[in-house]
Amino acid sequence: TLSDRLSGVFDRLRGRGALTEDDVRAAMREVRVALLEADVALPVAREFVDAATEKAVGQEVLRSVTPGQQVVKIVHDALVEMLGPDTAELNTNVAPPAVIMMVGLQGSGKTTTTAKLAKRLSEKDRKKVLMASLDVARPAAQEQLAVLGRQVNVDTLPIVAGQNPVEIAGRAMNSARLQGYDVLLLDTAGRLHVDDALMAEMKAVAAASRPTETLLVVDSLTGQDAVNVAKGFAGEVELSGVVLTRMDGDARGGAALSMRSVTGKPIKFAGTGEAMDALEAFHPQRVAGRILGMGDVVSLVERAAETIQVEDAEKLAAKMAKGKFDLDDLRMQLQQMQRMGGLGALAGMLPGLKGMKGAMDKAADGKALVHLEAMLSSMTAKERAAPNVINAKRKIRIAKGSGRTVQEVNKLLKMHQEMEGAMKRLKKMGGLGKLAAMFG
Ligand code: GDP
Ligand code: MG
Repeated sequence: TLSDRLSGVFDRLRGRGALTEDDVRAAMREVRVALLEADVALPVAREFVDAATEKAVGQEVLRSVTPGQQVVKIVHDALVEMLGPDTAELNTNVAPPAVIMMVGLQGSGKTTTTAKLAKRLSEKDRKKVLMASLDVARPAAQEQLAVLGRQVNVDTLPIVAGQNPVEIAGRAMNSARLQGYDVLLLDTAGRLHVDDALMAEMKAVAAASRPTETLLVVDSLTGQDAVNVAKGFAGEVELSGVVLTRMDGDARGGAALSMRSVTGKPIKFAGTGEAMDALEAFHPQRVAGRILGMGDVVSLVERAAETIQVEDAEKLAAKMAKGKFDLDDLRMQLQQMQRMGGLGALAGMLPGLKGMKGAMDKAADGKALVHLEAMLSSMTAKERAAPNVINAKRKIRIAKGSGRTVQEVNKLLKMHQEMEGAMKRLKKMGGLGKLAAMFG
């Protein structure tokens, strides 16, 4: 994945204070490849990489994560920004009926999305919704919408044979006004390609119905084609937003990124299946994650930045520099780690502690942490400060007090010893500050 590759690029940078331009450029070459692999249009990728480079250069490196991880986070945040807000709502706050016109190519998911939106507006927003199909090109297209309408319990305009799309739109407007509908959804016809006839029809319908929202529906699986479609539509009509369908498929997300920059309009919804409730508000974070294929790096960096108190880390580092690492320190670490989501994951990431991953993995689940905490709090302050006073008799007392067994107390003490040893080894390696920052 991209994050693996970036970690590779940055391995040689450990211990540096800030990201230099050369470091960042090396990483951004990888980012660019990843973007192109995710189907992002070349000019969009270029523009993005330049912007992200500017953001990353000169940033101080968090001591708790690798520079590679931090760059991934910067890139991720820049992607999210480029993808736009995730609070895009529909504007239905006008003199009724608020008209929402759906446009797009044939098969992009217009009719399905129309019904999904109708369901959402009527159920979630308690709107009185009317749907009308203006698709006279495809046989049974109007009937398809009527069937979906019955399924989601939303009215559809009665079908009258022989009317053209503008006439149907006019009739729908009248019905909506007369019968007090809040929202009118217009499902227009699509074509296989963007062409003049399609655009002319769309403009005529728009002129007749004055939509407050014109949503472009595009199939995210079509990648670069979707981008060209969006360009075609955006040049002809005033869009208010985009709906990306088939996000449940294996679209790599690149279309989403290009979409936003090509249309200048927010992606408002994502279609995630054929079912009528498979429509979600668009979440830029998810798409950014998909583009980067980076798993948990982002949340890790966020958690690290949130939970690690630098001052505590300095204190611990100073203590450890004197060769001291007692059970209170261990306890502090355990608490910190619990906040960061378990021991095993972190041990695997720490240089010098890889050998302990097994032991820590065992302690990694929440229950084990609770048990460790119980034993530690059954000790006296003196015992925690000087673990070597814990003899057999004290072990029995601690076990009883915490409801654990003596074997478990032994294991805890052994774990502490191992960690103390690891700390000493790390000190020799010169990585103490880094580790302390991690453990805080
Ligand atoms: P239209 O020609 O633009 O009106 O497209 P339709 O709404 O008729 O959809 C075409 C096909 O795509 C139908 O089989 C839908 O069930 C399917 N479809 C629409 N949206 C989605 C989606 O978000 N995910 C999946 N998996 N299928 C979808
Ligand atoms: Mg249709």
